[in-house]
Formats: sequence, structure tokens, C-alpha cells
Amino acid sequence: MTRLVNSFSYSHSRGDLFRECPRRYWFARYGGWGGWERSADPVTREIYRLGKLSNRYLWTGHHVHDRVEGLIARIAEKRPLPPEEEERTALLDTLRREYAHSKKDRSGHNPPRKGFWGLLEHEGRDFSIPDADWKPLVERAGEALGGFYRSWVLPELVSADPGDILDRDAELRTISLDVDGFEVPVHMKIDLAYRLHDGTVRVVDWKTGRPGSPDEHEGQLALYAWYYAKARGIPLDRIRLGPVYLAHRPERVELQPVSPDTVDRVLGETRDTIREILALVDDPNLGVARKERFPVTVRSFHCRDCPFRPFCPDRPRPSVS
Ligand code: SF4
Repeated sequence: MTRLVNSFSYSHSRGDLFRECPRRYWFARYGGWGGWERSADPVTREIYRLGKLSNRYLWTGHHVHDRVEGLIARIAEKRPLPPEEEERTALLDTLRREYAHSKKDRSGHNPPRKGFWGLLEHEGRDFSIPDADWKPLVERAGEALGGFYRSWVLPELVSADPGDILDRDAELRTISLDVDGFEVPVHMKIDLAYRLHDGTVRVVDWKTGRPGSPDEHEGQLALYAWYYAKARGIPLDRIRLGPVYLAHRPERVELQPVSPDTVDRVLGETRDTIREILALVDDPNLGVARKERFPVTVRSFHCRDCPFRPFCPDRPRPSVS
């Protein structure tokens, strides 16, 4: 059997992870590598398992995205959408089933395996949350899914030609970025992109949380614009990008053009982050990196939701006032 190689690649979220805590990046990208194999040592196996855990916000957000992707697939096939209530019930069923499974499938009882996942909040210790906190979370997920049915995006999608739906979160897109002669694969999963009849391309990033500052997602979206311009030949001045906050009413329309200067700046920042990571990796092609070269964060609040805390004795401690 061919052995997988952990060769270096980049994504915007990996860059965020590294900027928050280089050590956490190491755990996620290197520490648990191979932990799905029967022959892996117990520490690697446990780091792999911890790296597969999802927190409650990512978990519900993932399932809303998943259902919206399924709805857009139906639109692309010119099939009618199921009633909103039916979709919300299906979402709730999935969340209930996975919640119960996660609660049962705990460390030490079940070996890690490929495809394993679980909820960080079921790890016990200080990751636990009160039972009452789950209900509003699930309700918000249902509202976000319902938000798709009421979104201004839906009528535009329904009237688009099926071939003009360019992306819908179904495929990983990869484009190469030259960093000092090293061609780095940059991965991205684009929630939605579609072409209007006038040739404008709208690129949408679904958000299931609350709106933040207007430029909060600029780095991520500028990378998407770069991808469409470079890999798909769409001129930058035809692209409009922005977040759509599905659970937020009244809905805000925040799609904006992106300038070549912004794309250049974001690419420059991306190269800087990649250089910083590569300076710590021993062999980016073979996936060799030593933990001690990746410093821990100095900000203890980054540790609050970090699943690798049990393996991180060097982490900063909150100051006691
Ligand atoms: S516990 Fe804190 S310092 Fe350690 S890896 Fe996690 S975020 Fe970084």
C-alpha cells in the first residue's frame, strides 16, 4: 500500500491557526500524523484523535453548510427545493444522532480510526458546557438553514444557468503560490460562486455566527478572488465577494469588489506566513517537523478551546489577579 506523505501545503485557516499558536499548528499538522494506523504509538494516536474533535460552533456550522450545499446541488439540477421544515427536521436529526454518538465514543474506549470525529465539549474536564447551552445552539443552526430560504441569494441562484454555478462547497480547490521558488499548494473550499447574466461573478461565504467587522474576512476572500482570476480567468473587476450571515436578520448585503492592490497585499501577507512556517519545518516535502521548534502562544485565551492541552505542559497560564 502506498504510504501517505505529509507534504507541505497551505490554507487560510491553517495560516490563522499558526498565527494563533505555532505549537497548536504543529499538533494539528504533524503531531498526530499517522495516528490512524494500528502501529502508531499511543501519544500519536491520541493527538490524532484530539485533532479530529470539533467544537460545537464548527460542528453546527459544518452541518448547515452541508445542507445548503445539498440544496444548491438541487438548484443546479433544476429540481425543486424541499420545504424548509423538512430540511430543518433533517438537520436536527443529524445533530441529535451525532451528539449521541460523540457522547458515547470517548477516549480510551474506542480506538481512533480514519473518519473519527467527536465533540470537544464531550471530553470532560473544563471543556464541558451545561446541558442547557446546547438548545440555543441547535436552534441557531436551524435559523441559519432557514435563512438560506429567505436569502437574497436564492432567487439569483434559481435564475442562474446551471453551468454558471461555479462552486458550491463541494470540491477542494488548489492553486500554487510561488514562495521564494517553492511552489506551495494553497487549498480552499469555496462556499458558493455563480455568474450572473451580465457576467458578474458573485463569491459568497456563508456565515452561521454573528457579523463582525466589515473587513474581518478580507484575507480569505481576497485569496478566493486570486483563485478565480488566476485559475479560472475571471477578471478581478467582474468579481464581487462577501460574507452572507444566514442566521442574522435583517440580512446584510456586503458583497464588494476587490482591488488588485488588496489581492497583492493579501498574497504578500500569505507568503510571509508561509515563510515563517517553513523556517520551522525541517523537511516540508517529507513532512518532518520537530515540536520544540514551534513555540507556544503567549496568549492564554488561545488555549481555552485547544484540544491538545493535555499534551502541552508549556502552555501559558491565565494570570491570577
Ligand atoms: S494548549 Fe495553548 S499553547 Fe498549547 S498548543 Fe494549545 S493553544 Fe498552543
